[in-house]
Amino acid sequence: MHERTTPHYSLVCPVCDCRVVDDGRILDCPNSHPAGLLKTDYLEKTFEPSDEYSGIYRYHKWLPISRTFPDTSRPIVYRSDRLASLLGLRELWIAFNGYWPQMGATLDTATFKEFEAYTVLSRLQHNKERLVVTSAGNTAAAFATLCSRHQIPVLIIVPAAALKNIKVHEPLHPCVKVIAIEAADYYDAISLGDAVSDLPGFHSEGGTRNVGRRDGLGTVLLSAVESIGGLPDYYFQAIGSGAGAIATHEAASRIRQASGSTERLPRLMLAQNSPFTPVLRAWRSGRRTTVPSSEDQDRLEISQVCAPELTNRRPPYSLRGGLHDALIESSGDVFAISNSSAQDATRAFYEVEGIDIEPASGVAVASLRSAVMSGKVDRHARVLLNITGGGRAQMARKFDLEQVTPDLIVQRHELQPSESLARVLGDISELLN
Ligand SMILES: [Zn+2]
Repeated sequence: MHERTTPHYSLVCPVCDCRVVDDGRILDCPNSHPAGLLKTDYLEKTFEPSDEYSGIYRYHKWLPISRTFPDTSRPIVYRSDRLASLLGLRELWIAFNGYWPQMGATLDTATFKEFEAYTVLSRLQHNKERLVVTSAGNTAAAFATLCSRHQIPVLIIVPAAALKNIKVHEPLHPCVKVIAIEAADYYDAISLGDAVSDLPGFHSEGGTRNVGRRDGLGTVLLSAVESIGGLPDYYFQAIGSGAGAIATHEAASRIRQASGSTERLPRLMLAQNSPFTPVLRAWRSGRRTTVPSSEDQDRLEISQVCAPELTNRRPPYSLRGGLHDALIESSGDVFAISNSSAQDATRAFYEVEGIDIEPASGVAVASLRSAVMSGKVDRHARVLLNITGGGRAQMARKFDLEQVTPDLIVQRHELQPSESLARVLGDISELLN
């Protein structure tokens, strides 16, 4: 593990413009005002990938990190002929994040969440406190694998239904603990994670608020710029929280500033899996705030989607620098994609590109097809499609993967009354002692 000492960036609040020296874990501006996402400001203003660094650290000058780890991968981006031709697009670029060694994609956990996990862990200045990570599935697999490999204490909280997708290559090191919540969704995991993070000795990873997570995901756009030779006109991605979309927008803004150009930022074309589409509803309402909905209705809709990792009941939409701002600034749009459209698109992608993709990536492919067919995308435009996860079937054929067994299972109803929650927190503390 290589340590670096000189701070090459600071954090800037988009609400009050104050600057903060990063301690590796800060998530919010210390001043009291409406919420906003802290952003990184790097000393290096030109885009200069470093050939002497491997994996995502090729972009280390634009990553908020104080240490590096060996053997990271980086996003691969290639120009598609066959899917482009099927859709009738002149210039389609695919960012493939997953396991496809023939193309140079070798992500251990088969999704782009590995880039965020590596960057968050590289941002930590020490491992004295236990990191608390909440996830709908793929982020959990990434943190479990990397924290186990590098022996970084972590507590991972997931909905129990997500366990079947959390597979690892080797048994986890005891420093990794996993808690599953029955009958729960991603937001329940976030709520328990917040409660645990208030206990001494724990520290919240923070999700979208973590600049490491966003700038790590932003490496997809940086890699695309290297392959394409400039910014795309459109960027397609399926979203739950939308951290990857915000990250792409921030990275594109940085690239534009570096080149001194006034070219338009890539239009964020974001897709949700219907019937659960809170970001689409908020976007269509034309307001900064999300549209209120009943918890029961949300849970019912979440139970019906084919890509559960795209379900966050409280996406970072309204806050300054969040999804609303990114969509407005990029003249973006949001799509709703049904399960059947996503499944058709997944099959079509396999037939033309020759690799299996995750249901969430199928949602993204279907949104691109829908946007082209409805004339929302110029067929001559330069389009970047983010395949956020794929190659899992190929990986399963090659390796013996093991599903993660939780160290503790709690019921959702136990998280409600404060005495019951206190008991759960006691059980968690005991588990770690
Ligand atoms: Zn502030």
